[in-house]
Amino acid sequence: MTQCDIAAMKATHPVFCTIVPPHVLDKLAQADDPALAGPARRTLEADAAQRTHRRLTTVLGAPPAAPPADAAGDKPHRTLYDAQHRQELPGVKVRGEGDEPGQDATVNRAYAGLGATFDLLLKAFGRRSVDGNGLPLVASVHYGENYGNAFWDGRQMVFGDGDEIFRDFTLPVDVIAHELAHGLTQYTANFTYFGQPGALNESVSDVFGSLVKQYVNDQTAEQADWLIGAGLLAERVTGVALRSMKAPGTAYDDDVLGKDPQPATMADYVRTGRDNGGVHINSGIPNRAFYLLATALGGKAWEGAGQIWYDTLTGGGLQVDASFTDFARATVAAAHARFGDGEEQEALLKAWSQVGVPTG
Ligand SMILES: [Zn+2]
Repeated sequence: MTQCDIAAMKATHPVFCTIVPPHVLDKLAQADDPALAGPARRTLEADAAQRTHRRLTTVLGAPPAAPPADAAGDKPHRTLYDAQHRQELPGVKVRGEGDEPGQDATVNRAYAGLGATFDLLLKAFGRRSVDGNGLPLVASVHYGENYGNAFWDGRQMVFGDGDEIFRDFTLPVDVIAHELAHGLTQYTANFTYFGQPGALNESVSDVFGSLVKQYVNDQTAEQADWLIGAGLLAERVTGVALRSMKAPGTAYDDDVLGKDPQPATMADYVRTGRDNGGVHINSGIPNRAFYLLATALGGKAWEGAGQIWYDTLTGGGLQVDASFTDFARATVAAAHARFGDGEEQEALLKAWSQVGVPTG
């Protein structure tokens, strides 16, 4: 079992969800070139250490979060830490809410990315932070040595500086938002991090990651690239991003990294015990359903498709072990409640049908 282990998976909080899946790191760790294999092995070791740490904090209970500084909850309360290339969290505090930008571009990008995610949740959905109650947002940057990953550990975000294959993980705003959206899921539907509910957990993070990027760039669904982690892959890698919501399975095809394993439809659903039962793999299916809906509706994706996904996530009608079909049916109910029997309903049924997930 990798990434989120069995104990964690059954715990009330989904924990330690990384952006780069283990099958990619395993492949890199086997590379002939020690410059590639070394950092990947260290990243895997650091991930294993974090899992152990999280298992302990899951058992012992996490310390209570600080109360939000802004009682109204309509402003973010961000704190940035510099892990100084160590693996102890959170590290040294380097920027608090309202502080002027410093010299460190990584800190500034993470600060801005947290703010953008907070803004989308508030302005598009009227939600005050990821928990709906003004939760302070905490992130640590410069985690570990050549750490090629980023993760949400149940309490905060953590970003590595990258290695030979991946660049600084704060570069793509959708990666920052993806990690924070794991917090959103944790406080709402809380999908179990395994199999289909785990793939829904991953997909929701990709959806909100992409929405934050589109919101920051003021893009319509047609203008968006629908890529997750564009700009993250080093120049030597043959690929454009970590994942493609538009065309799952096409984000990269590289000698060292391997080929993007995501399916676009249920016909190609991958049954595997790896990657927590393929959580970063089969997420391609609901990702593409969202893309199909958003582009069919047109305009700003957070207004139609995003609203339906948000209503579904927060509606309370889903079990933590929801299947793709459970989720699809819940989106249909949410769309009906919000928009009636209009074009949204029709486009939604068509989108799920195109990816082979039944809604009837
Ligand atoms: Zn994730």
